[in-house]
Amino acid sequence: MSDLTCKLLIIGAGPGGYICGIRAGQLGIDTIVVDDQKPGGTCLNVGCIPSKALIHAADEFHKVKRFAAGNTPLGISAASPAIDLAQTLDWKNGIVSRLNAGVAGLLKKAGARLMAGRATFQDGKTVKVTSDGSTVQIRAEHVVIATGSAPVELPFLPFGGKVISSTGALALTEVPDKLCVVGGGYIGLEIGTAFAKLGSTVTVVEAASRVLPQYDNALTRPVMKSLKSLGVEVMTDTKARGLGEAGLLIETADGAEREIAADKVLVTVGRRPLSDSGNIASLGLATDGPFLRIDDQCRTSMQGVFAIGDVTGEPMLAHRAMAQGEMVAEILAGHARRWDKRSIPAVCFTDPEIVSCGLSPDAAKAEGHEVTTGLFPFSANGRAMTMEAEDGFVRIVTRKSDNLVLGLQAVGHGVSELSASFSLAIEMGAVTEDIAGAIHAHPTQSEALQEAAFAALGHALHI
Ligand code: FAD
Ligand code: NAD
Repeated sequence: MSDLTCKLLIIGAGPGGYICGIRAGQLGIDTIVVDDQKPGGTCLNVGCIPSKALIHAADEFHKVKRFAAGNTPLGISAASPAIDLAQTLDWKNGIVSRLNAGVAGLLKKAGARLMAGRATFQDGKTVKVTSDGSTVQIRAEHVVIATGSAPVELPFLPFGGKVISSTGALALTEVPDKLCVVGGGYIGLEIGTAFAKLGSTVTVVEAASRVLPQYDNALTRPVMKSLKSLGVEVMTDTKARGLGEAGLLIETADGAEREIAADKVLVTVGRRPLSDSGNIASLGLATDGPFLRIDDQCRTSMQGVFAIGDVTGEPMLAHRAMAQGEMVAEILAGHARRWDKRSIPAVCFTDPEIVSCGLSPDAAKAEGHEVTTGLFPFSANGRAMTMEAEDGFVRIVTRKSDNLVLGLQAVGHGVSELSASFSLAIEMGAVTEDIAGAIHAHPTQSEALQEAAFAALGHALHI
């Protein structure tokens, strides 16, 4: 067994770990990043990127199907469309491979070493890395745990055969005729919508009384309408009970049991942090529920051991992991940094998309603020009309006393791209007048943001 030393050892090359590695390398810190999978983590290999590729392919296919059905006022017609999902998968895998190589190249360019292998903690400063039967022992001054998360498995619906996780769904080479989705959260609705557009008959089984509970009813209403028009059946207050002969056994709100026919059952009931990966448990780190406990510099309860990303808590989002990774590298280089973000934007890539940054009206009131809200519907936005995208709105939530922007939300076609303006406004402490006073290009959907600000000031112009 050979020995290596370094100043910083990062376990996991997902968005948290690889960004930490790149920034540490740029700052001249002797860094090793270890992962037993291709670099990029869940996000790049089986998460954000593959799911958005599938969603794009499904959108394109759905568009052509609509033209073929003559179901468009645009005067476009098309012959009977078909999709070869295996070819779509090849295209998606090509993007993932390019990005895998990109991450490895960026680490190399920054001067950080990427090592393939499975890491196992020996103590807080020593880790064994095993790959293809050979083992290297690494001693480091500082360790960053960035081991991420894995899909939650239901004991009565173990993954295998008909029962698949998001990873399985993103690797399907054929569109299932009947897809049953257990869990109406982010993954269930993003992937469920994509397969409905690809031609599956989709049923979503959700235990709670509504889907996407992190967003308010006004934001989810257009998504529910679109699911209905796609023929997706959403069963709330319904529990999955197990696998039957023909599909999924469920218990509905009234206690009745029945079976829903399914070729595939996609289980998306959340993700669990990998706080037990690589013998982490032997370090005896303090935890918050299933997550590793961290302070505002991502330090765990053991000196010299940091943790970032999904393993540290909600929201389990790639950009949170990246921001933590960049911050930790700078702290190790001696910069004065603390986690003082005002908000972490959240985007749900359903149809239409939902974006939320900062506080919703209800959350702001619950925090004791007296609030003003301004809302502008896309039905009054010219650009949205030209894109047949009139469903949805932009909403601004401000503090009544001084018009400080507390939150920004939107639902609509392509609104994920508004997340940048939303974050910037909140992070920079904008007031309503700042947004109302910034000239927004015409004709764009982003004008709805300026109009929402005008509405909050009591004088929307286009409604
Ligand atoms: P991960 O990306 O999970 O990376 C952890 C890495 O650690 C892995 O590569 C793993 O192999 C490695 N590892 C673990 N243990 C060891 C060990 N002992 N030795 C060596 N290596 C180890 N988030 C968004 O922000 N936007 C989205 O659109 C989005 N879409 C998603 C879609 C799906 C289907 C899924 C599943 C997730 C999605 N997410 C999305 C969530 C996002 O993927 C995660 O928040 C993000 O990947 C977390 O980054 P991380 O660095 O904490 O961990
Ligand atoms: P989720 O927490 O978003 O949704 C899980 C849903 O399953 C919830 O609505 C919950 O009520 C339901 N549920 C739980 N147990 C159930 C049961 N036994 N039967 C039926 N329903 C049940 O989890 P997810 O969709 O698995 O996604 C995991 C995480 O991945 C997300 O929380 C998010 O952090 C991340 N993610 C983000 C994006 C994005 O940013 N666009 C996309 C995908 C995933």
